[in-house]
Amino acid sequence: MKILRAKNLGFCYGVRRSLEFTERQYPSPVYTYGELIHNSLIVDKLANNGIFAIDDIENIEEGTVIIRSHGAPKEVLIRAKEKGLNVIDATCPFVNRTRKIVSEKYANGYKIVIFGKKEHPEVIGINSLCDYTALIIDNEDLTDLATYEKVCLVAQTTASAKKFQNIVNKISKDGLKTVEIFDTICYTTQERQKEAEQLSKLCDKVLVIGDAKSSNTLKLKEICGRFSTAYLVSEAKELARINFNVGDTVGIVAGASAPNESITEVIQYMENNYTEAQNEEFLQAVDAVGTNGKLRDGKRMKVKVTAADEKGITVDFGMKIDGHIAAAEAALDDSYNPADYTQGMELDVILLSAKAEDGLYRFSKKKVDKIKEGDKVVDTIRDGEVFELVVERDTKGGLLGKLGTYTVFVPASQIKEKYVHDLKPFIGKTLRLTQLEIDDAKRRIVASQKVILERERKEREEIFWANVIPGVIVNGKVKGISKFGAFVSVDGYDCLVHISDIAWTKFKSIEEILKPGKKYDFVVLKADREKGKVSLGYKQLQKHPFDAAIEEHPVGSEVVGKVTSIMPFGAFVEVATGVEGLVHVSEASNTFVKNINDVYKVGDEVKVKILAIDPEAKKITLSAKACMPELPEEEKAVKAEKKESKPRAPRKKEVVKEEDSEWSEDAGNNPFADLLKDIEVK
Ligand code: SF4
Repeated sequence: MKILRAKNLGFCYGVRRSLEFTERQYPSPVYTYGELIHNSLIVDKLANNGIFAIDDIENIEEGTVIIRSHGAPKEVLIRAKEKGLNVIDATCPFVNRTRKIVSEKYANGYKIVIFGKKEHPEVIGINSLCDYTALIIDNEDLTDLATYEKVCLVAQTTASAKKFQNIVNKISKDGLKTVEIFDTICYTTQERQKEAEQLSKLCDKVLVIGDAKSSNTLKLKEICGRFSTAYLVSEAKELARINFNVGDTVGIVAGASAPNESITEVIQYMENNYTEAQNEEFLQAVDAVGTNGKLRDGKRMKVKVTAADEKGITVDFGMKIDGHIAAAEAALDDSYNPADYTQGMELDVILLSAKAEDGLYRFSKKKVDKIKEGDKVVDTIRDGEVFELVVERDTKGGLLGKLGTYTVFVPASQIKEKYVHDLKPFIGKTLRLTQLEIDDAKRRIVASQKVILERERKEREEIFWANVIPGVIVNGKVKGISKFGAFVSVDGYDCLVHISDIAWTKFKSIEEILKPGKKYDFVVLKADREKGKVSLGYKQLQKHPFDAAIEEHPVGSEVVGKVTSIMPFGAFVEVATGVEGLVHVSEASNTFVKNINDVYKVGDEVKVKILAIDPEAKKITLSAKACMPELPEEEKAVKAEKKESKPRAPRKKEVVKEEDSEWSEDAGNNPFADLLKDIEVK
């Protein structure tokens, strides 16, 4: 029987992440909102560790609640916080991406359509973000979509990628231009589905490891069932019910929530029962006696204990002369205790030297134990588990090291993502590897670090793009400055902060605000995955000078400002850096002012009172008159009369310059346009 294993086995990123949360220390008792993952083995294991699943937040009054990778309805999160619970949000970033899209689009008046299962907790959580108004579809019937003006289509992260693509094709065929489509199926789901299809085409039978409650596992079974006979198995013992035939090719795939223990168990069961067993004992026996039966250095042998004391163990190895294992060579962790070695006990040892010293042959048990440890590691890496290897030497075309009795070969093409020509610098270094091929008969493993690096890069890439959603705050390091902005590295990806998004007020150089090499928070403004471009904003996270100014100078307060420009209807006065208010001509003095130029000129310092603030339009209405003493009516009249009779030099026509009327950061957008439109400039 031939066994083919999918490359992607074991927990997905989101599940691994949520399980990591359960390993931390929190205020007790600790609960998960719903079963943390759809796998009863894991749920039982958590319960044994005192972490229980609850379905209703009202059932708990204290402690910690961990939100699983599917996320939770918004009202559950609100209620948990209201109750003062310690909320740990382990929602998978891919699910969060869908949640953010839906919240944003719903707020902008879109009809939300979710391709998925309406009873799935992830879908329920997403639907809560549009107040449960989403249209949830699980087939390709799009009749209803045409009835909505604006539609936002998303998919459950574990939905069938093929079916979703069919829907997308249908939408473009039907010319439904008002539908905005977001492919929110997560990459791990897509890869596993693709692999399941390819693998099942080569197999007679496919074992799909996972739980019957797991949506992505059921989807894999459905896909495999199209091309071969698929069986859902959660534990190795279930394999007994399957009739395998001699010569069958059997595939093994696993859902994203299938634990490694179950996968290893199934693989081992299949290998032990249906593939040619490795005759370990035979190999060892050959090794022990050697091909010509003579003693040689490093020969592995079975010996019998005759006595043990503080100095070591005396052994019989079938010759007239005794063998001896020194205490330091007896145990791996230097935990040698003579009492552990009884007469007649059989030990697996290595001959240190084929020449007797002081009438004794010296053996080491420790060295064999070390090899055995390494061989145990070999068993754990069969299903793709990552292992470490110290490189011992280079050879033609790659690197070599030892794992137990196995020689590990890492081809030069598998060390890094690019081919490595110079192998010497890797000698003595530790590599993180995954096996590509294990040949038990030859004790050889071919392994790759490149596969891990590629997988991690892809994972990082997916997480990065799932997180850079407009509005999200990210932390990044300023890598460089150019004349049009700053380059910022976020999780290793280059993003741009355009010069217009650096500060609200004018500045001389970008370095004044963003220092190269330093880290800052930025808000994502735009992310275009196809073009690989992300625009960030810095000023958007800083207080707008207008908001700072009105906080400092509320309505009724008085402030001394500088006249920045004169208009026929009044004067603009800067009350804080970059923030201006208007003193209307009628508020310029405690006497009648016919011409504003009679009382103010640009650069004058003037005491003004804040009369009104319009935060929406970012306008401040000022009065100088309110800071002056009230004059008796007669005095006002006299002053007015004097002003009237005063001869006045002919005045040039006022020219309204755009920059003079600048009021906020938005140059060219005169906030007083609405005031000006009703005023005739003479
Ligand atoms: S299947 Fe995808 S979306 Fe779901 S938890 Fe795993 S990584 Fe996250």
